[in-house]
Amino acid sequence: MTIRPFILPSNTSLTYCLTHAKALINKHTVTPNDNGCQYYLATYLQALGFTCEHVVIHGVSNLIARWGQGARHVAFCGHTDVVSPGPLSHWRYPPFEAHIENSQLYGRGAADMKTGLAAMLGACQRVLPGLNQDDFTFWWLITSDEEGDAQWGSKWIKQVLDERGVHLDMCLIGEPTASSATGDTIKIGRRGALSGTIDVAGKQGHVAYPHSCDNAIHRASRIVQGLLDLGWDGGDLDFPGTSLQITHIDSGTFTDNIAPGKCQIEFNVRFDATYTLTTLKAAVLERVLSADNDATIRWSRPCEAYQSHAREGDCLIAMAEAAIYRATGRYPLLSTSGGTSDGRFFATEETQVVELGVPNTTIHQINESIHLSDLLTLEDIYADMLVQLAR
Ligand SMILES: [Zn+2]
Repeated sequence: MTIRPFILPSNTSLTYCLTHAKALINKHTVTPNDNGCQYYLATYLQALGFTCEHVVIHGVSNLIARWGQGARHVAFCGHTDVVSPGPLSHWRYPPFEAHIENSQLYGRGAADMKTGLAAMLGACQRVLPGLNQDDFTFWWLITSDEEGDAQWGSKWIKQVLDERGVHLDMCLIGEPTASSATGDTIKIGRRGALSGTIDVAGKQGHVAYPHSCDNAIHRASRIVQGLLDLGWDGGDLDFPGTSLQITHIDSGTFTDNIAPGKCQIEFNVRFDATYTLTTLKAAVLERVLSADNDATIRWSRPCEAYQSHAREGDCLIAMAEAAIYRATGRYPLLSTSGGTSDGRFFATEETQVVELGVPNTTIHQINESIHLSDLLTLEDIYADMLVQLAR
């Protein structure tokens, strides 16, 4: 491992965001436990003029905080929950006791994404007192259920905003998106995901009398071939494209003289923003039924795809690029790689979504960590973006 030396600057608020990062990491918050993180955030946000609402619903903690009353509505979204640390004995330092060694900050959530929260809190403390509350409305939308099934987290928050008639113009998500240093990569979309189980019915019988049975595996293989022959788009520069993978085939216990009477096919699709869940399901169903009209499909784990595009005028992508250039001297890669994210709940035709955070190389791993310079750079970028939003 190469160690980048890091000298603490004397005139920045590193101590702010570092203090916040440590305080948040020190709270044990495996999904959906918030353990006081949102109270911690709200205490500082209220001091900056935010109005904070804290709602616990189905065991999930959600924080909705609002600053200002400008026409443009911008949200910072994120989560206080973390994934399980796994075996504690494998950690170099206890996962819920933040520790710094060689300028590297260790702890569960050090990358995903307590440092994202800490950097934005530090940025708000730095610049919001100098900004005009009439220039834009700034929301913090924070949940404790991002890593879990996410039913009562960001999805619920979005419904609350919709019911109140709040339409977000922009949404910045503090998830870890960088590959080696903060600012090298931002996400402007994510592929969607959908799983399914196909139930295939045949007629069980003795293998020696094939005319009297209807082999369900033979039926299933025609369905599988039909799905593999589906002509997906090949992707483009922005999206890796759509693909379907068969993940399991099960005809139950077997003996070598019985043709099985039923078979299950499991599959998963990763799809780009040219599909919605509705159009994707229609395409798969059509293909399955054309191979076997008696087959049925049960869908599971649906996640919409999203993709934001650069636009004239107010453009969150352009603001992020400018802030990153000023902080790092380089422009970021615009990516849509990785799994699904809460961005899917906020992205619409009207709402631009950008995910921008620290490096994700150690997320969900033993000894999760980031370099302190990545935390400071993120606070600089966020502060720059807040100032741009006020122009
Ligand atoms: Zn995360």
